[in-house]
Amino acid sequence: MQEYVLALGANLGDREYYIGQAIEAIRTSCGPIQRQSRLLETEAMGAADRPFLNGALVIQSTLEPESLLTRLLAIEQSLGRTRTLRWGNRTIDLDIILWKDAHGNFPSVKTPTLTIPHPEMHKRLFVLGPVAEVAGDWRHAELQETVAELLKEKQKSG
Ligand code: AMP
Repeated sequence: MQEYVLALGANLGDREYYIGQAIEAIRTSCGPIQRQSRLLETEAMGAADRPFLNGALVIQSTLEPESLLTRLLAIEQSLGRTRTLRWGNRTIDLDIILWKDAHGNFPSVKTPTLTIPHPEMHKRLFVLGPVAEVAGDWRHAELQETVAELLKEKQKSG
């Protein structure tokens, strides 16, 4: 069984509605939801000027990483995300954070369109917090630390 951790973020309109719709679409087009974090209210960052709701999921999926990304981008588009400013406001943002393959390993991926582990994950409390809730014992392939350890370090350093 192959699993992924996904991060979700929304900061426009009815944020809970968009997150709920995204989860439903992920369930039908990517695979069953194994675990779901609570939603965390987070200050705006980058070019965004409204607070976000952030959460994380563990899903089971037979999709390869690139195919999963393609489906997530289609879900973002169907929920009305318009790509204008990088880091700007968005109805929904879906990211692949970590991948656990069928052997229980945590492989990394580096292609022009996809990087796993997500390159910003260890720098962001709003990612690490929800991800630690659902996958605290998953390992970062390059940093060789668990998500729980990365969260602890980030909480210390701020
Ligand atoms: P953003 O605007 O931050 O949501 O960036 C979206 C783009 O980042 C996508 O079109 C992907 O090609 C690229 N990307 C690279 N790595 C990842 C990842 N782990 N999860 C989602 N998108 C990624």
